[in-house]
Amino acid sequence: MATNRTFTMLKPDAVEKGHIGAILEKISASGFRIVAMKLTQMTKADAEEFYAIHSERPFFGELVEYMTRGPIVAAILEKENAVEDFRTLIGATNPADAAEGTIRKLYAASIGENAVHGSDSDENAAIEGAFHFAGRDMF
Ligand code: UDP
Ligand code: MG
Repeated sequence: MATNRTFTMLKPDAVEKGHIGAILEKISASGFRIVAMKLTQMTKADAEEFYAIHSERPFFGELVEYMTRGPIVAAILEKENAVEDFRTLIGATNPADAAEGTIRKLYAASIGENAVHGSDSDENAAIEGAFHFAGRDMF
């Protein structure tokens, strides 16, 4: 069943560079409602579990190191067609390939440090949201 929610993280590089406000503004202006949100930091075990699908990839160690090095903003967002529309808003994984005006084009430094996460399916949006938030923290 298609849902209208997605899950995002403003990654450590975006937080370090002071881009929380600008990125949230862009998300709001694009019609997403914030259902849940917090500043948090993932442990190594958290990042290994969250990105388990990539555990055999050569960049996995660096990815876990990067995602745990400082706080992130985790959020659940709501909009019609949320997963697909949010992937469009953030742009390609590699900012060099990302369309003009996308969050990654504007704020990402590289394919590794790419500022923001967006779920790739309704199923993963639900899993990822539940990984970070309890039901009472969702509005
Ligand atoms: N990543 C990386 N090198 C790569 C591909 C991905 O460091 O060659 C990192 C990057 O931070 C990316 C994350 O791993 O956002 C997850 O990769 P995925 O292919 O799922 O990209 P996304 O869904 O985030 O666009
Ligand atoms: Mg992905």
